[in-house]
Amino acid sequence: MQVLKSHKITAVLVAILVLLLVLGGSYWAYQANTSRHKTQTGSATKSEKTLDAELPKGVKASDWDLVLVNRAHPQNPEKPFDKVTVDDKQVDARIVEPLEKFRQAAQAAGYSTTLVSGYRSIAYQQQVFDTVMAGHERDGMSAEEARKATAAVVQIPGSSEHQTGLAVDLAGDDALAKYPQLDAAMDQFPSQQWLIKHAPDYGFVLHFLPGKEAEKETGIDYESWHFRYVGVANAQYMTKHHLTLEAYIEQLKKAGRN
Ligand SMILES: [Zn+2]
Repeated sequence: MQVLKSHKITAVLVAILVLLLVLGGSYWAYQANTSRHKTQTGSATKSEKTLDAELPKGVKASDWDLVLVNRAHPQNPEKPFDKVTVDDKQVDARIVEPLEKFRQAAQAAGYSTTLVSGYRSIAYQQQVFDTVMAGHERDGMSAEEARKATAAVVQIPGSSEHQTGLAVDLAGDDALAKYPQLDAAMDQFPSQQWLIKHAPDYGFVLHFLPGKEAEKETGIDYESWHFRYVGVANAQYMTKHHLTLEAYIEQLKKAGRN
């Protein structure tokens, strides 16, 4: 009897101990899980807040130097602006000085540059589009097939950033000598690398960045020569956070900067 009783007590004690261990273990796991979750949520909120806090002061998505023209945001007819001729191209008068300083700095670093393209009117873009399309039709495509094939390589009139006068195709002379038709591989040249690296100091960014994500956002494959003026503060912020103009405008709007 005595033996049995003490066995019973031992069994009960063991059971309580096991129960405590199980409960304690689950509670610990629950706590750990909750705090991990809290940390994750906390850091996501914090980084978003930090990003918004770092947004350049007074900047709005509707600012003139952030105008967005692409296939998803066509602009037709084009918005008029003051045009100034630089070399034999035209650009928006407001970017003449920054562009000149940018190219002078490149020259001082040992890299002469060529302004390949500046403002292109919708009418000109239409001409290019029609010419390429007519070629496809001559080769036997139907009008619809020809339109599709053309749209794959030529911006649809009204959706090219060049119509804003804020975009330039700018190339290091040595890179251009090797790739007169412009090519992403121009970025193998130190001249083009210098331009890409220092563009933000003069208010420009490379708009069509490399990488699947960026190409999805812009709808355009990587172009190592197409620079877009957005102003120094915007350019530096976008570069620091690896943002395309599309993504940056999205962020401004989310932050209530319309
Ligand atoms: Zn371009």
